[in-house]
Amino acid sequence: MTLQGKVAIVTGASRGIGKAIAFELGKRGAKVVVNYAKSADGANEAVEAIKAASSEAVAVQADVTDAKAAAALIKAATEAFGRIDILVNNAGTTRDQVIMMMPEEDWDTVITTNLKSAFNCSKAAVKVMMRQRYGRIINITSVSGVLGNAGQTNYSASKAGLIGFTRSLAREVAPRNVTVNAVAPGFIPTDLTATMPETLKGETVKMIPLNRWGTVDEVAYAVAFLASDEAAYITGQTLNVDGGMAMS
Ligand code: NAP
Repeated sequence: MTLQGKVAIVTGASRGIGKAIAFELGKRGAKVVVNYAKSADGANEAVEAIKAASSEAVAVQADVTDAKAAAALIKAATEAFGRIDILVNNAGTTRDQVIMMMPEEDWDTVITTNLKSAFNCSKAAVKVMMRQRYGRIINITSVSGVLGNAGQTNYSASKAGLIGFTRSLAREVAPRNVTVNAVAPGFIPTDLTATMPETLKGETVKMIPLNRWGTVDEVAYAVAFLASDEAAYITGQTLNVDGGMAMS
């Protein structure tokens, strides 16, 4: 599954899952725009790793919750590499709390970072992809958006929203040969999950048929597949990469 000649944008690619996705796409030959909000060092590391794997990459700072910044990110990608074949809406955050204790701003931050950012970036990228009559949009949702999770009403709502967004956008852009899919990771060790107490981490393993957490690379492989030409006839789907947690 080569991505030679393709141009990819990965939002939130300075750390964790996004960084692994950016590297995996670059390793397969894509030219990659590595987006970040604050972690310039992490984004530059991702760029250097992709270059060392013999592809091209640039780091572009943009807070994707801001529509103008998201549009500027898409413009920067076309200016750097001439087209956009793959957009991975990965940037995300959590503010976990039971609903009775959840501040309104934590609800807004999570919905804006996880869901509105995908709207902002997709809206700008779709214009380019429709013109090209080619595109792959991959939204990183979560097992929490599929199953729900106590203490994560904001996060689950944003991630379930992304699944509906994926299906609706898939129907809109299919006539122009643009596919839109989601990947729903289960528990993956990154900064996002690092603050979970060890006892709770142990409890989560009991819910996973494969009896372990996943890795950032295992999520990246699924994204690389959906980004490939081999996935041309798959659209509107959510691929669970969760060790079997959400199997139905
Ligand atoms: P992470 O390690 O905390 O990394 C988050 C990334 O998002 C960082 O690169 C961060 O950039 C970026 N980001 C945050 N807000 C941004 C904004 N406004 N604009 C641009 N970039 C922004 O998280 P992760 O675990 O890799 O998660 C990546 C995605 O996978 C998220 O959507 C998350 O919900 C999803 N996910 C994670 C897990 C898990 O177990 N880890 C499970 C299911 C789904 P800066 O470093 O520059 O701030």
